[in-house]
Order: sequence, then C-alpha cells, then structure tokens
Amino acid sequence: MGMYDLVRFEIECPGCGEIVSSFQSQDGECILNWVNPSDVDNFYTDCWNCGDWLEVSKQESGEYMLSFYKYEHYNPWLPGVPYKTKLIEGFKWK
Ligand SMILES: [Zn+2]
Repeated sequence: MGMYDLVRFEIECPGCGEIVSSFQSQDGECILNWVNPSDVDNFYTDCWNCGDWLEVSKQESGEYMLSFYKYEHYNPWLPGVPYKTKLIEGFKWK
C-alpha cells in the first residue's frame, strides 16, 4: 500500500545542523504506528531543511549505522557513497 510507520528518533543533520525527527520505516505493520528504533532494522528520512537523505540500518553486531547522503546523489536503486557514516550502539528503549 506504500504506507510506513513513524520512528521515534532524532538527530542533528550533518549537512545543515538542523534537528531531524520525522523518520519512516517499512519494516513493521506500515499503518502509521509510532515505533521505537529498536523495533525496526532500517529507517530513513530526508532533512526538511537541506534535503540530505539520512538512513539508519541495524548491523549484525547490534550497532546501528547512520549514513548521510547528499540529496542530488541519492537514488534508492543506486545509493552511491554516503558523505558521512557513523556507528552507534544498539538502542536501549525496552
Ligand atoms: Zn539538513
């Protein structure tokens, strides 16, 4: 149906410094539920201010990889190279 869930996650955009908080995921029921980052393996959004693409993916280690892409280089079928990545520890929401 092309729906998604909303992820409770907030981060400073490295492209412009604004706080970005409207993350989406399609790993859950996709009925516009609010979910915690630990409930899904992947979530993403674009920065409302500068358009950079921010994506978070769970790694096998349990850490999460944050990847930041410049908007003009982002294509979901050809993601290219993120201009910045950052590993963070697993989320402890439970
Ligand atoms: Zn930004």
